[in-house]
Amino acid sequence: MHSLEIGEFRITLVRAGSYWWDGGAMFGVVPKTLWSKHQPVDELNRIEAGFNCFVVENDSRRILIETGGGVRHDPRAAERMRLPDPPRIQEVLAAHGFEPESFDVVINTHLHWDHCGGNTVDTDSGVCPTLPLARYVTQRGEVEHAREQHPRDAMSYRAVNYEPLIDSGRMQLLDGDLEVAPGVEVRVTPGHNRDMMIVLVRSKRETWCHFADLVPYASQVTPTWVSGFDLFPLETIDSRTELFERAAAEGWWCSFGHDPKIAFAKIETAEGKWRTHHNRA
Ligand SMILES: [Zn+2]
Repeated sequence: MHSLEIGEFRITLVRAGSYWWDGGAMFGVVPKTLWSKHQPVDELNRIEAGFNCFVVENDSRRILIETGGGVRHDPRAAERMRLPDPPRIQEVLAAHGFEPESFDVVINTHLHWDHCGGNTVDTDSGVCPTLPLARYVTQRGEVEHAREQHPRDAMSYRAVNYEPLIDSGRMQLLDGDLEVAPGVEVRVTPGHNRDMMIVLVRSKRETWCHFADLVPYASQVTPTWVSGFDLFPLETIDSRTELFERAAAEGWWCSFGHDPKIAFAKIETAEGKWRTHHNRA
């Protein structure tokens, strides 16, 4: 079990499988000679990207961060991503002992398909929330951007993952940072896109930070190792640097959107470079 205690909270990595995507796209302008030492490629130059979801719970609440990539993929796309039999998030959660009915809140850090693909299920009575009793939260600005369908990133958004939840009043649209539950804060952190949120859990002077796609891989603690997907790469570097300084100074545990091996790590700086330490699988 990939779990960590942060004060009164228990945080568990629930990896809803993984997909494989072009390594160069994941590392932007960084040369392959450097990043491939950390992320091995397959025969088509793809690297593994975990669908990293996290359960945050204490005695009074259970929160799910992200719902994975879901199961609605056309066969060609599935083959391109080495995703022949994607797992259903409810089954992955159940395998860890979490019943879908037990969640109070679902946080979507942003609405790219690989973070909210398991939000909804197709049933005989239509599209329903996968976590039937939960309040879903995301940023209003992210929904507006998704609806804009800009050619640069329209393919990352699939309305079935969020529009039915908005229509039925199950998704709360946030206008900025919010403590979604005592000790659990979402914070808008631009870079990957305008409105992506990181998640901070604080209890008894301990902190856990989920970077989501601000830092998809642990090796990207080098602030300039920015993904090619990012809409605002300079802001990614600024957001990362500011957070890494605090993470190192305060000894935060940190997690990453897609690292297929590392669940939790701390961050330190040495000889002018950032690196992770205390890595936990
Ligand atoms: Zn992602």
